[in-house]
Amino acid sequence: MNLVLLGAPGAGKGTQAQKLVLEFGFDHISTGDLLRTAVKDNTELGQVAKTYMDAGELVPDSLVIDLVKERLAQEGSSAGFILDGFPRNTAQAQALEEALEELGISIDKALLVSVEPEVIVERLSNRRVCKTCGYTGTAQDSVCPRDGGEMYQRDDDTATTVRGRLAVYSEKTAPLIDYYQDKDMLVEVDGDRDIDGIFEDVKDLLGL
Ligand code: AMP
Repeated sequence: MNLVLLGAPGAGKGTQAQKLVLEFGFDHISTGDLLRTAVKDNTELGQVAKTYMDAGELVPDSLVIDLVKERLAQEGSSAGFILDGFPRNTAQAQALEEALEELGISIDKALLVSVEPEVIVERLSNRRVCKTCGYTGTAQDSVCPRDGGEMYQRDDDTATTVRGRLAVYSEKTAPLIDYYQDKDMLVEVDGDRDIDGIFEDVKDLLGL
């Protein structure tokens, strides 16, 4: 099964994706993670992407689309893939469809994780990520509960940048909800609950 995850930054898409990967072996394709790796490795793409990311803006479509195409062309998991953070606007959704058509594959469902904006600002200001394994936790985790790694706060998880990212989401990404609804592919889960409760609903909705 191939999935697109939709939802505002901080809605919990990455957390649900990590759980789906652990339980079912999906291939997790997160454009945010791919871009952060490019920034860390200081590649040409990373240098360009960093200015947009630090400002909470979208990295230009052409760069992100090429990155995703390259990743999709690599051998993936037989369980399928989860696209997390992509597409982020309708141009990317159309580019994705074309790229998948060339590869002879398609998206089965778009899963929307919905959370109110006030909850998101609070959640993201408190979010910490493990430097080594990428585990997503909170400021209460002094070290990573999974591998003992150092937890850090993402540069774009400050309150001001978060508000900008939410505005970008409403303007550019939220229209994708209708886009996938019109294609009869949308399923929605309430993301303002405990992680395991959400995951049970996610599995039901996806028939897993
Ligand atoms: P995320 O980890 O998905 O919250 O993404 C972090 C940042 O990476 C975003 O605020 C954007 O600057 C950039 N980014 C991630 N995915 C995309 C995408 N599909 N299109 C454009 N920019 C992206």
